[in-house]
Amino acid sequence: MIRVVVAGALGKMGQESCKAVVQAEGMQLVGVVDSRDSGNSIGTYIGKPEINVTVSNNLEQVLRDLQPDVLVDFTRPGVVQGNIEMAINAGVRPVIGTTGMSAGEIERFIQLASDKKVGGLIAPNFAVGALLMIKFATEAAKYFPHVEIIELHHDQKMDAPSGTAVKTAESVAAVRGHLSQGMPSEFEKIEGVRGGNFEGMRIHSVRLPGFVAHQEVIFGGIGQTLSIRHDSISRESFMPGLIMAVRKVMALDHLVYGLENLLFE
Ligand code: NAD
Repeated sequence: MIRVVVAGALGKMGQESCKAVVQAEGMQLVGVVDSRDSGNSIGTYIGKPEINVTVSNNLEQVLRDLQPDVLVDFTRPGVVQGNIEMAINAGVRPVIGTTGMSAGEIERFIQLASDKKVGGLIAPNFAVGALLMIKFATEAAKYFPHVEIIELHHDQKMDAPSGTAVKTAESVAAVRGHLSQGMPSEFEKIEGVRGGNFEGMRIHSVRLPGFVAHQEVIFGGIGQTLSIRHDSISRESFMPGLIMAVRKVMALDHLVYGLENLLFE
């Protein structure tokens, strides 16, 4: 049995993760942490009253008392960093879905996990279709270096651009390098209207009620365009990837950034 603790358990992704862990073969939900509650059972939140795991607001104590194999984290930027550090120092494998960390922070955790020989994963996107989108976009960028990314999310999302958009841009930039796109003398009549600039690639973040997680990567060439699009229409889309990651980190002694490195190995 892989013993799992979920942090951010009462959130949108946290509740879905608790349900998935409970249903997964060979896995046991041993603890749940969220700053919003302490003392009630997660079962009532996820519509499974038979699951009697008490919500705690103290991750450090939960890790110490329960000594789980894996910590799944869907909290928020600013919180996740401390949780990763706590997990690695306690010898617990972090499987991190929370986005919004800087490249430098991720690098620091990779180093810490390597020093402590603790396996783990930081994955901006657990949806297999999204990983394929990035893979196809990276291939397309060899032939179509002019790229813009539009990512669309629900309006409760804190960070922009999305972790997936950053991962896509990094991956595309690794293939095509820096490229100044558009008209050199272009100017913005409304500030920011051309989007964020990553190595000359423009990234646009849409935040509206109704969306879950969506992204379109648009390539422009002479007389043609190519669009590669992925839509997560429900949060269940992330669960097969999450469960796979929880299983795979058990065999790792280092921290991996990106589920694609476990999926397409
Ligand atoms: P949410 O706001 O619904 O949930 C976050 C939860 O964390 C809340 O219940 C909140 O109470 C809890 N929390 C906040 N501070 C805490 C603390 N100090 N200790 C414990 N719990 C704390 O958000 P969400 O939509 O579930 O998203 C969570 C994160 O997951 C975001 O960063 C989002 O971008 C990311 N995300 C990742 C993927 C992926 O595939 N990797 C997919 C969707 C969302």
